[in-house]
Amino acid sequence: MKTLKDKLSKHTLCVHEGSRPDEYKGINTPIYTSTSFGYLDTDERYYPRYFNIPNQQAVIDKVSALEHASDGLVFSSGMAALSTVLFSLLNKGDHCIFQSGLYGGTMNLILCEFDRFGIEYTLLQNNDIVTFQKALKKNSKVVYIESPSNPLLSITDLRKVSEFCKNSGCISVIDNTFASPVNQNPIDSGIDIVIHSATKYLGGHSDICAGIAVAGKKYIDRIKRTSVNFGGSLNAMMCYMLERSIKTMAIRVEKQNYNAGKIAEFLYQHHQVKKVYYPGLPDHQGYEIACRQRTGFGGMLSFELADLNAVTFQKGLRLIKPSMSLGGIESTICAPAVTSHKLVPKNQREAEGISDQLLRLSVGIEADADLIEDLEHALKQK
Ligand SMILES: *Cc1c(COP(=O)(O)O)cnc(C)c1O
Repeated sequence: MKTLKDKLSKHTLCVHEGSRPDEYKGINTPIYTSTSFGYLDTDERYYPRYFNIPNQQAVIDKVSALEHASDGLVFSSGMAALSTVLFSLLNKGDHCIFQSGLYGGTMNLILCEFDRFGIEYTLLQNNDIVTFQKALKKNSKVVYIESPSNPLLSITDLRKVSEFCKNSGCISVIDNTFASPVNQNPIDSGIDIVIHSATKYLGGHSDICAGIAVAGKKYIDRIKRTSVNFGGSLNAMMCYMLERSIKTMAIRVEKQNYNAGKIAEFLYQHHQVKKVYYPGLPDHQGYEIACRQRTGFGGMLSFELADLNAVTFQKGLRLIKPSMSLGGIESTICAPAVTSHKLVPKNQREAEGISDQLLRLSVGIEADADLIEDLEHALKQK
């Protein structure tokens, strides 16, 4: 039976879901600053590191509802979320399959930490389902994906991956940061665990560092046992900031989707632009899958300049800020070759399609015409 929650739209869930009552009838969740809570006459043992204080629960309930999950955990960064999830599911001697095109920090975690703990892994060369199947070993436990990927926005078929995992007894985990819960709900495609760097679209104002993991209760209970030991929980103040930010997420992301679509079309026809990577363009590698598994194409896009120098181009921008990170209300741009992929050797980078001329744009909520005019001006630089 559908409850009221299932019928409410994401816009409404963003605003209302999870809010905790205020005894003075204020309409916002109060910030409960205590780290010490009474324990007599109650079975609950409240403590920030146990992921159960009211401000953490408010955020978890909101994001769980948006992602169609039954429970979750809120962490102090996206990396805290994804490292805790992985280390709670994988034991010494287990094997993990990672899709290609992962976030740089995730790659670093795998390359620097996994060997030390005796965890085996395979980094895939491409994300065809056959490649996943070929990587399967007797000790494979977890399949980890990220769709769309960074920076080329490649799309992995979530339903195929989840079927593969169900048939092989693996747990599927997705980093859903780039899509946001507004544009993609992987649990609906059968994925088990969804992670977000809340630093990006959930926070949305480039001023919060946080992470989220949501899933069915069975998985969250298991992850929580390890999370309590790793201790990467988020404090009440930041939880409140995050709760407040998510209230506007649906309208922010809707505008970002719209702007990014307009900008992708503009760049696509511009003679100074060699290639545009945006899942909403019909010639994108994953366009058809994206149409099936997403409700919006997102606010991230990448493009390659024809012969204009990337630095000259960025210096010609007056509105769009050359800066790292993404997902804020302001448009930002960066060259992956000198930021997120700086440590990847040049020939390997270029083989993956990440040239010095590639730029990754995180589209904000400004007027689309102003953003296009800014890009047009910068594309005229010599
Ligand atoms: C930023 C980011 C992360 C890491 O999140 P932090 O909040 O910086 O720890 C993980 N995955 C993706 C896709 C990201 O963009």
